[in-house]
Amino acid sequence: MGYRDTRREPVQLQTSIATVSISGEFPEKLAAIAKAGFTGVEIFENDFLTYDASPREVAEMVKDHGLSITLFQPFRDFEGMPEPQRKRTFERAERKFEIMGELGTDLMLICSNVSPISLGGIDRAADDFHELGELAARHGVRVGYEALAWGRHINDHRDAWEIVRRADHKNIGLILDSFHTLSRKIDPNSIRAIPGDKIFIVQLADAPLFDMDLLYWSRHFRNMPGEGDLPVVDFMRAVAATGYNGPLSLEIFNDQFRGGSAKALAEDGHRSLVNLMDRVRRLEPDIAIDVPVMPDRVTAQSVEFVEFATSEDEKDNLAALLSTLGFVRSARHRNRAVELYTQGNIRIVINTDKSGDTFADASYTVHGTNAYAFGVKVDNAREALARATALGAPAFSEERQSGEVSVPAVQGVGNGVIYFLDETPELSGIWEREFSALPVEASDANLTRIDHLAQTTQYQEMLTWLLFYQSIFAVRRTPMVDVVDPGGLVRSQAIEGDPQPHFRVTMNGADNRKTFAGKFLAESFGTSIQHIAFATDDIFATAARLNELGFQALPISRNYYDDLEARFGLEPDFADALRAASILYDRDEKGEYFQIYSRTFGEGFFFEIVERRGDYAGYGAMNAPFRIAAQRRLARPAGMPKR
Ligand code: MG
Ligand code: MG
Repeated sequence: MGYRDTRREPVQLQTSIATVSISGEFPEKLAAIAKAGFTGVEIFENDFLTYDASPREVAEMVKDHGLSITLFQPFRDFEGMPEPQRKRTFERAERKFEIMGELGTDLMLICSNVSPISLGGIDRAADDFHELGELAARHGVRVGYEALAWGRHINDHRDAWEIVRRADHKNIGLILDSFHTLSRKIDPNSIRAIPGDKIFIVQLADAPLFDMDLLYWSRHFRNMPGEGDLPVVDFMRAVAATGYNGPLSLEIFNDQFRGGSAKALAEDGHRSLVNLMDRVRRLEPDIAIDVPVMPDRVTAQSVEFVEFATSEDEKDNLAALLSTLGFVRSARHRNRAVELYTQGNIRIVINTDKSGDTFADASYTVHGTNAYAFGVKVDNAREALARATALGAPAFSEERQSGEVSVPAVQGVGNGVIYFLDETPELSGIWEREFSALPVEASDANLTRIDHLAQTTQYQEMLTWLLFYQSIFAVRRTPMVDVVDPGGLVRSQAIEGDPQPHFRVTMNGADNRKTFAGKFLAESFGTSIQHIAFATDDIFATAARLNELGFQALPISRNYYDDLEARFGLEPDFADALRAASILYDRDEKGEYFQIYSRTFGEGFFFEIVERRGDYAGYGAMNAPFRIAAQRRLARPAGMPKR
């Protein structure tokens, strides 16, 4: 290929994905991949073996979708074989080269040998590859060599590179795979010493950090860059530095994805690559990288409001619950059946508007009363919208009347909407401009702000939504925790503003509909906000005030307090005070956490009140089983035995 001036030739974003990465039948996968914006696919031999199509038919289908085949794989156990196996591997390779001719692709992957009979030896392997290079040249194809993390003799890209270097053949190159490098904790900066034109393709995958067998980890837990814990950004920075200018190909094997939708997975994959290269471009300003230019990740300052869609009939129950929490109805929309309830810096919008085709009305029709939208306060709302849409989030807008501002918004998790607000007069003034204040009597239970939103989703969709938030916003992810519900497991993970955790969303992934979260999901027809947590600076004062307002806390069992006293060695007076007010308690190295839950509303929605003391970092996961037990007790139909 010769010398290329990598400074003048920007790295192009060429997106590719292995068809095995997503679910569905082969034609459905191709359609989803093309629609999500990919330009290439990796084809596994199994794709046409299981789909029962010939290589030529597969080639036609791929072409019809406007895609190219970036790689054909896998070819196993090639290098370093003793005779007579050695001769057979060459015959096998030649047959694959013929298939590649029919597929119309010129690159094959050989992964490092795992066979117990392979001999090892860098020069032996290099000689094998040189000879294979001659054969490949006759067929007009190229071969890339990949070090599997569990390869028998070669399990490190540095050794694979040494073999490729010594093979010294223009048809033989290296294949890098972020999982194989990073799972073995090999310093990705070692890639910077490899010439870019000898890297034939780069495969990308992330993974959650687990201490387990590498092969099992790879086959079941890979995920999209940004969804896991591996330093894929550092890996890609090093790749970009080499001048490599070929496809970035996602090769993901994940059990969680098998039940997911092909469309959503393809979109996640494309989003993950665009987001990755945006990070790399920012961290390597001296390397020319041609990716869509977009504003940097959005700093979310707070949740400015939450909006419920409901009906005139059901509104009263919600309003009554809010008033027992100390909220007052402080304003009404000038043009629409929309009311504003406020307290401290919290705004709750209740939308019962039926004029025209509003999204709120449609949302109510499908899901019943639900918190379908929220507004995030950001530095620059237009830029936030630009970043979100550049990452594939659909912009959301509705017809506005004269005098109404069109607030930048995107479709968010499930069937929700996320609005972006900022300090510009146009956006910060909407509450005064579009609403008329109502006379209010002072109420207040010292609730100051929204501490967190809790969204419930199917477990398979959790990664989709975590990636959504993490690519758009400057947030970090907390470790995943398992919440045991008598009906099954609920997995919970939070994203929090980074460095300031003022914006907090917990995602709860329900395995099945027998859990409390799963039941909510089934009965409200989809992913949604299941609870909203308000912050107070004095939980005991708030509890006393709520009592005066007629608030009914979720009653917590006596056993919980006995256990709590023993677990933390609490003073009896303190434990009594918690119990008297149905306050749940948790503590970590950094501080303390207090929680009061409301009873449920509708299909399992509830409010939470929290006080954080010190720098407590969690969400009271220890208490969740007790909360769920209490909710289940109250949900039990009348006449059922109470134990
Ligand atoms: Mg690979
Ligand atoms: Mg919570």
